[in-house]
Formats: sequence, structure tokens, C-alpha cells
Amino acid sequence: MSTIQLQSFGSVSPERYPLDHTHFRDTSGRLLEVDNAFAPLRERQIDRLKKLFDTRAGSWVPIDRSGVWRYRELLPAFKPFDRVVTLMEGNTPVYAMPRCGSYTGMENLKVKHLGCNPTGSFKDAGMTAAITMAAMLGKKSVACASTGNTSASMAAYAARAGMRSVVFIPGGQVAYGKLSQSLDYGAVTIQIDGDFDKAMSLVETLCSDSGLYLLNSINPFRVEGQKTIMIELLHQLQWRCPDWIVVPGGNLGNVSAFGKAFEELQRLGFITKPPRLACIQAHGANPFYASFASGVRLLKAVSANTRATAIKIGNPISFEKAWHSLELTCGVVEEVSEDEIAAAKSMIGRDGIGCEPASAVTVAGCRKLAAAGVMKPGESVVCILTGHLLKDPEYTVEYHSDELFLDPHRNVSLSGTQRITAAAGGNRPVRLAADETIIRDFLESLDAEA
Ligand SMILES: *Cc1c(COP(=O)(O)O)cnc(C)c1O
Repeated sequence: MSTIQLQSFGSVSPERYPLDHTHFRDTSGRLLEVDNAFAPLRERQIDRLKKLFDTRAGSWVPIDRSGVWRYRELLPAFKPFDRVVTLMEGNTPVYAMPRCGSYTGMENLKVKHLGCNPTGSFKDAGMTAAITMAAMLGKKSVACASTGNTSASMAAYAARAGMRSVVFIPGGQVAYGKLSQSLDYGAVTIQIDGDFDKAMSLVETLCSDSGLYLLNSINPFRVEGQKTIMIELLHQLQWRCPDWIVVPGGNLGNVSAFGKAFEELQRLGFITKPPRLACIQAHGANPFYASFASGVRLLKAVSANTRATAIKIGNPISFEKAWHSLELTCGVVEEVSEDEIAAAKSMIGRDGIGCEPASAVTVAGCRKLAAAGVMKPGESVVCILTGHLLKDPEYTVEYHSDELFLDPHRNVSLSGTQRITAAAGGNRPVRLAADETIIRDFLESLDAEA
């Protein structure tokens, strides 16, 4: 029987390491991945597992209740599961989105809202796994570079596990909702003058020669946890794959994890053919798109600029893994403009769902891909909403007040900066005198308009 190990990703002669190896690159700089040594299951075994997952979904035991650990047979690296650190993450809802369906031209459009996780983003699905591994390895201190959500999630799980956490964030560029979380959860929060890509390279070096355990998505155990986002989705859809999964692309950890999930589910026999992955980037942070569009599998780093700060990343660490996910799923990459992101976000809002700007690239991307004929009208689509609206409320208020600019510091920098237009999507707050008659007249004028 082969054992579960780490191995070099994308190499013809992979180097292999034990699970407690804490440097996440091989000798030639390749990323590592968990080799779960899965073998095909019999139909009877698959039916038994599906029934087991169903039963656990109705259980109140934390490890069953968690939408990650419920699927622990597919996460064998963490056996015997006696050190699991959970906030009962996952269990995120899937919603039909009729208004976004008309808006994109994809009538059969749903979203899975990962913003409903304990700290408000999908990072929790990976973090519960990686912090569990940190606990299994006896680590006392953990670290990450972050555009905000990774640090919020790491800080929460580290607090639960009684570990010290150290976060490196780009100074002045992290949305307040996210920064406030790291502070409350007790993380040592270091703002550097530099962008995310600078923070990422700094923390990777720091962790390689200290006792700090690195929790960015270069950590292969994060990827293991994030696989369950797709496993839970398929469970929710009665194990029927949609035609498309649409996901934002920043550091490309999610695209990589989703590809690995489908690869393993197919090998085990849960599915016969994976859905197609569509990864969407902001135009101002589009190195994956640029590579895909040119057809050349070569990462050319860019200097990233977008108000969707969660995907403001110019040198994505999981580029190679993400390419593999595209190949595996017949995937595509698209880019969208700041105006398209903002408009899509307000359209998602009109379906009663609130997400942060980075998540809205999915609906904007669907609209573009449908218009280009890449997505066909009858096909089913699930957009992955990665973070919650309340992560970045400034963005939303500025947008609806027609005051949203590409440069968030426009007030201090007098330099010209692009305005992101609200146009018809805007919903300005109304100022009225505190007078019954005036307010009644105003409300009647709304009825007259409708
Ligand atoms: C981290 C993050 C992303 C980017 O995900 P990657 O796995 O880095 O591509 C997108 N949206 C939100 C809200 C995030 O927090």
C-alpha cells in the first residue's frame, strides 16, 4: 500500500517528503502537493460514503457538523482527526439567482456563498485544515501574508488553537472589515510599506529560517481543506456536476484546490467528468488571464491595481497548479473591468445577496463569457462568492454615492484617477427633512414611478 506524502507538483520525477516537512518547495523551487494515494472505489463503497456524509450533515458533533471535516475520508493526511481545530466552517448556502440569471444571459445561474463562513470568507475551509496540521506538528506560531481575508481567518483559527499568529499586510490597502478581525483575534499585525506580492516574498523567506509555520496557500494543507468547497457543493447538488464553476483568481489557490478536488473525485469514482472551471481576474491584476489569452504557459508578473483588493495580486504563487486545473477541466480564464465588477456586485445585491468586490468578478465574467458564446444559454453555472459584503463596506457606499475611484486615496493624492461609474446600478441615500408631509410626498413619488 502506498503512503500519504508530500510530492513535487508537476514534475516527471517528483521528490517526495513526509507530511511533517515544513518547507513547501522542492529542491528546484516547485510547489508541493499532498499525494493522497487514492485508489478507485467500488460503487457500493461510494454509496456508503454518500450515505455517511448525509447522516453527518444532520449531526451536532463538531467534526461532523463542519462542512470540511464531514468529508474527512477525502482528507486522510489529517488522520486520526483527534487534533482538529474547527469553527464549524463550510455549510455555505447555494442560492438560485434569477436577476443575475437575466443579467448574464445564463438562466440557470446559482451562487455558493462562501462569505457565510465563520470569518466571512472561503479562507476558513483551508485554514481549519492547515491549522489542524500545525497543531499535529506541535507548532506554536503561524504566519501569513494577506490582502486581509487570509489574516482574518488565520488569526481566528490560531486563537482557537492557542497559537501566536503574525500577519503581514500591505499598509493602507486592507479593507477595514478584514483588518478589524485580525486585531480582535489577537494577531500580531505588521503593516509593511509594499504591496501583497512584496509581503508574500518576505514572509516566505522569514518562515523558511524560523519556527514560524507558513499558512499561505503555498501550504499544501490549505489546498486540501479548500477541496471540500467543491465536495460540499456536489453533495448539495445531489452529486450532479453543473456545466460550469466560476471562481475569482488572485493567488490562484482556489482554482488549484478545485482542480485537485475534481481529479480525486473522478479517480475515486464519485464523478465521471468534471465541470468546466472559469477563472475570472480583474483587468488590473490579470497575469493568469494574460498567459491564458496568449496560449503560453508562462507567468509574467504585473504590478497589480484594482479596488477588488482580495485579488490585487500580480505574481500568483499557484500559477502552475492553476494551469493544471484548466487542462483537467477544459477551463477558461477571463478578465473584467472595474466598472463591470461594480455593476455585477450591485446586481448580486438585487438578488438579496451581499458579497465583496472580488467575488463579483464571477457574475461579471459569466456575462462576458455568455456574450462571447463560450457559455451557452442552457448550461448550468455556479458562481463562487468568496467573501462577504461587510468585509469592505466603504467600497459599496462609495459606489452607490457615485464616489468610487480606482485610487482609494484620491482625497490626498490630487492626481487623476479613474472613476468607477455607478450609472443605473447606483442607489444613493436620500436626504430629506424630518417632516411627515415631505416624506409622504417622496414615497408617493416612488409609487408613481413604479
Ligand atoms: C483570497 C480571496 C480570493 C482569491 O483567491 P485565490 O485562491 O488567492 O485565487 C478571492 N476572493 C476573496 C474574497 C478572497 O478572500
